Amino acid sequence: MQNRKFKSHTTKRRYDTVIIGSGFGGSAAACRLAPYLKDSLCVLERGKRYHMGEFPRDFFKPKDWWWRNEGSDGWTGLFDYTSYDTFAVHRCSGVGGGSLIYANVILEPVKEIFKNSRWPRECTEGRLITWEKEFERQCKKVHDMLRPQKIPYGLFKTRALRRAAEKIGSGDVFDTPPLAIYFGERGVYREDPYDRKCPAQIGCTLCGECVIGCNNHSKNTVDLNYLAVARNHGAQVFSQHVVRYLEPVAEGYIIHFTNLRWNYRDSVIAKRVILSAGSLGSTELLLRCKYGYKRYKFKTGPTLPDLSDKLGHYFSGNGDFGGLATYTDQVVNFAEGPTITGMINYSAGKNGQRFIIEEGGFPDILRSYLRSKFPDYGIARKIIQKIKTFAGFDRGLSKTFSELLGLLEFRSDHRMLMYLVMGLDAADGRMEINEEGYLNIKWDPEKSLPLYHEIENTLQKLTHGIKGKLMGNPWWISRNKVYTVHPLGGCPMGRSRDEGVVDCYGRVFGYKNLYVSDGSVFPTSVGSNPAMSIAAWGERVSEHIIDTERKKE
Ligand SMILES: Cc1cc2nc3c(=O)[nH]c(=O)nc-3n(C[C@H](O)[C@H](O)[C@H](O)COP(=O)(O)OP(=O)(O)OC[C@H]3O[C@@H](n4cnc5c(N)ncnc54)[C@H](O)[C@@H]3O)c2cc1C
Ligand code: SF4
Repeated sequence: MQNRKFKSHTTKRRYDTVIIGSGFGGSAAACRLAPYLKDSLCVLERGKRYHMGEFPRDFFKPKDWWWRNEGSDGWTGLFDYTSYDTFAVHRCSGVGGGSLIYANVILEPVKEIFKNSRWPRECTEGRLITWEKEFERQCKKVHDMLRPQKIPYGLFKTRALRRAAEKIGSGDVFDTPPLAIYFGERGVYREDPYDRKCPAQIGCTLCGECVIGCNNHSKNTVDLNYLAVARNHGAQVFSQHVVRYLEPVAEGYIIHFTNLRWNYRDSVIAKRVILSAGSLGSTELLLRCKYGYKRYKFKTGPTLPDLSDKLGHYFSGNGDFGGLATYTDQVVNFAEGPTITGMINYSAGKNGQRFIIEEGGFPDILRSYLRSKFPDYGIARKIIQKIKTFAGFDRGLSKTFSELLGLLEFRSDHRMLMYLVMGLDAADGRMEINEEGYLNIKWDPEKSLPLYHEIENTLQKLTHGIKGKLMGNPWWISRNKVYTVHPLGGCPMGRSRDEGVVDCYGRVFGYKNLYVSDGSVFPTSVGSNPAMSIAAWGERVSEHIIDTERKKE
């Protein structure tokens, strides 16, 4: 596969810093470091770049939708869904990482987590840290970049969740969460809407497609801000470059990657490497470097054998849980508006557990597909109506089935309310790799059961309050498996190599100039949607690198 013919399409031979992965942690670091490093900084991202209007909508092109087996055979799409023994994990592959398909909720970490002794009270140099204050400071920077704001529209689904909360006496903890969305004039195209030389965006049209990629670029995804600023300062961002492993050398590290676009293997050398491939991606890469792996004809021994034995520990699904209330007495219409618009915040505690319940939308994907195929949307609408009449939907079918099929209509009275929940779980899962370098997650739910039981009880009560019927979480009911979109941990921080993989600045113990800047460093769940916490960590890591460089000058 070695073929250097297309080398001009890719990286230079040497960089000061290479960042692996372009999600919240990687982009925040790239943005802050770029003004110092200029064209000696590059980002290697395994997924594709998505310009305005380029997110897939065609059902019949699964390779555009799904990422599979390290992008082999052209499966280099947006969604990376993997079912492990005890967890099913849904993440994203693309320039911008999880921000491309996330639900835009920007919340600070729940302060309670910092009381857990897994969060080191002091840095490697013995300097004391107050994590609450540190996150407050870094989150302000994230806020300035992602510009979250509350939704300026009133939607049925937001009102339905509020009513459910009020019915069980939780109206006081209901709120609308800050969303990183450009709510400019609806449907209007604006060049550089935030005045910082970043790409154009269109005011949110409430189309409800946030979790399959916003074709209006209304979402403030990190490729449109953090990464765009980094590029303005000379950083190079390479899509479709999947990193396989690292090798330490005298000058720093050799980063071995596969260029998926031109299908060849190559490498670059960097003085400094920042791993930002997400909790699963970074942990998997480091596990391969610690233990070596063998796949087909390729074999590598351990390249970073002295990594901490804590590698793979403290995996958390961030307490993720879900449920669906059907036949409620509320108009919900969950295909309209941004995915999440309301939350019931129990992070101050409910019967000893801390969690947040949000309502979740789901895109009307059939409508999106037809829209992409038929320029005249009226025709698409007629086709759906014909199919429905022909198939006799809603007649003689089971109630649940016909309600699900009802989603294909353009009715505005769907009565199903989806719950998305996250909370403080025990964060005691463990990631491992097999001989071929593939990841698995092992976990015993026992210690997290009180949280899930309290969530289930609360969902029952909420649903009862709006006269609905609760459909439980299918992964949990059928296989005691947790479905998570918020994987955390794997490269936890600690005071020493015995306690963690990285220190409180993200520096990997035992390996100079190797950093981790993503959700893998958190030793506990963060209790809220984690994107802001992760970007804040990226801010902290890059701030420390810059401070250290300045001291040397
Ligand atoms: C459907 C959905 C909705 C969500 N909604 C919210 C929300 O509303 N609010 C919130 O706070 N969070 C939300 N999240 C979670 C959020 O997206 C993640 O927590 C966040 O993206 C993690 O950031 P990260 O920087 O750790 O990693 P990621 O954002 O996952 O970035 C890692 C990047 O590294 C790349 N990569 C991985 N391996 C390699 C490799 N070997 N070589 C090169 N590149 C590699 C990946 O392609 C990816 O782009 C949601 C997630 C999903 C899936
Ligand atoms: S609702 Fe539609 S336009 Fe608004 S942010 Fe979500 S995907 Fe973009």
